[in-house]
Amino acid sequence: MYKIDKEKCLGCGGCTITCPKGIDMGEDSRAKIIDEQELIKAGGENVCPYGAIVLDDEEFLDDEE
Ligand code: SF4
Repeated sequence: MYKIDKEKCLGCGGCTITCPKGIDMGEDSRAKIIDEQELIKAGGENVCPYGAIVLDDEEFLDDEE
């Protein structure tokens, strides 16, 4: 399961262009996964060039505010 590492996410919106069906920008100006299957189809973690899209079992900072 993919998550957004909000510490790494710059809010650039690039992922929403690469994967418009899978990711949207949240109210906090950070990416938000809306459809994981679409994200996987678009390339999963490769969708973000900054490494902010991570698998749940990888090291990442808690995305809860
Ligand atoms: S997840 Fe990556 S590509 Fe998407 S807004 Fe954040 S930094 Fe940009």
